Amino acid sequence: MAEELFRQDAYLKTCEATVVAVDDKGIRLDRTVFYPTGGGQPGDRGTLTLADGRAIAIADTVKAGDDIAHVPAADAAVPAVGDKVTVVVDWERRYRHMRMHTALHVMSAVIKGNVTGGQVNADKSRLDFNLGDDVPTKEHVTAEVNRLIALDRPVTPRWITDEELAARPELVKTMSVRPPSGAGRVRLLEIDGVDLQACGGTHVARTSEIGTVECLKVENKGKMNRRFIIALAE
Ligand SMILES: [Zn+2]
Repeated sequence: MAEELFRQDAYLKTCEATVVAVDDKGIRLDRTVFYPTGGGQPGDRGTLTLADGRAIAIADTVKAGDDIAHVPAADAAVPAVGDKVTVVVDWERRYRHMRMHTALHVMSAVIKGNVTGGQVNADKSRLDFNLGDDVPTKEHVTAEVNRLIALDRPVTPRWITDEELAARPELVKTMSVRPPSGAGRVRLLEIDGVDLQACGGTHVARTSEIGTVECLKVENKGKMNRRFIIALAE
């Protein structure tokens, strides 16, 4: 089972690792900085470079039971068990995921309703809410999200026990995306004074790193369901 270095430090771009298995799911390592698809955030891409200099392109990263599988590109070289590799994440893409993911947390604090789904992407991201007739406009969401981002609040992961989470069900905002739990503890993501919820994704360290966000549109997705789509303004 790979040591998940990104859980404690989302800013790690590289690490040294050893190949522990290669199977139909992909390449397993003893440790990794690659985030696997989950919680509405895409899996990372990047390269594993062998000692002889050959680079293995990684097209996706997925969960494989309790472990993480690095999915090689179609024509990539196949390493052997025991090979030492230098793991390098596609940082430009991942950092956009971190900014977007944190922006969705901020948006979930602006819109009052249960989150029914969400998806982080490098270009556009979305959150779906169960709302009554009181649907905020995209202009209101844009202004409020940017106001909170400008407060430059720290964004901090911390852990609580499964029992503590069970006693505080309000910490699970996204009913369709269960937080990582079962190992006796659950990861929380806190944006100081703005948002606190169970989340296993990668985030920036301060809200100011998100930059300016624009809510592009609000879509009707069923009787009570409203979809808010955002982009990062460059
Ligand atoms: Zn999150």
